[in-house]
Amino acid sequence: MTYHQALERETYLKKTMEENPDYAGILPLFVAICEHIRENPGAGGISFALPADAEDRVRGGSPAVTGEELVVDAAAAVSFLQGLADRMMALGIGESAQFKNFRYLTEREVPTLLQAWFQGQRGVLQSAAFRLRINPGVLETLLAVPVKEAAAEAAANVPEEWYAGWDGLTCPVCASEPAMAELQEDESKHLSCGVCRTQWHFRRTACPLCGNEDTEKLSHFMVEGDFIRVEVCGRCHRYLKTRDSRLGGREVPLDLLDVTTMHLDILAERHGFSRT
Ligand SMILES: [Zn+2]
Ligand SMILES: [Zn+2]
Repeated sequence: MTYHQALERETYLKKTMEENPDYAGILPLFVAICEHIRENPGAGGISFALPADAEDRVRGGSPAVTGEELVVDAAAAVSFLQGLADRMMALGIGESAQFKNFRYLTEREVPTLLQAWFQGQRGVLQSAAFRLRINPGVLETLLAVPVKEAAAEAAANVPEEWYAGWDGLTCPVCASEPAMAELQEDESKHLSCGVCRTQWHFRRTACPLCGNEDTEKLSHFMVEGDFIRVEVCGRCHRYLKTRDSRLGGREVPLDLLDVTTMHLDILAERHGFSRT
């Protein structure tokens, strides 16, 4: 993320907070993340080395990078994460002990934890959180920041034409699941990766989370006047928020809209659907 992009994001988040006081409790955390990225460009201590055969991999239906390509500079990663935790503590976000205990994070364990976050190894993260006396959700939120930045940088080097024929349930660049979807103005559907922010084409007639094509089990609901709808699947009982760009909201990056539409997550969960 460039300095300018991070600044634009901060501005949008602050505007949302002003317009919607319900978000005043959660959005400062995301503002602080943007500030930290902006003030420490490229300093997350993690990168993905795009393999020489990345194009063949993607064209052949495999993701461009896997955990094997993840490279960690442990000292830089620890310093970035502790700096981020200090920033949260200074802002008074949540319980300060959660952030103070990041000082016990060691260079020896940080590569394993970043890898575990990328690979979704929740058990590894939970036991580390227990040992460090940090809430597992807080640990995951902070670890996500440098991994997502590194994945987005790798994605910037993967040309769109490599995955023009991709129709998978997971991201062609990093194999993660979609966090949002978009119905574009030409009525085509695209899924947006929850980690590297790549968008790829997906058929409209299937659940983007389990591939279910039984249309009787697929439906959606939306809040009146909104351009985000919640698509739900009766087979996997999961949901995905989808921007209908024909109705508006096109100027906002999808991952930011994800953060500023948490009221829809609460609604979906109340209806018995889960995100993961
Ligand atoms: Zn991705
Ligand atoms: Zn499904």
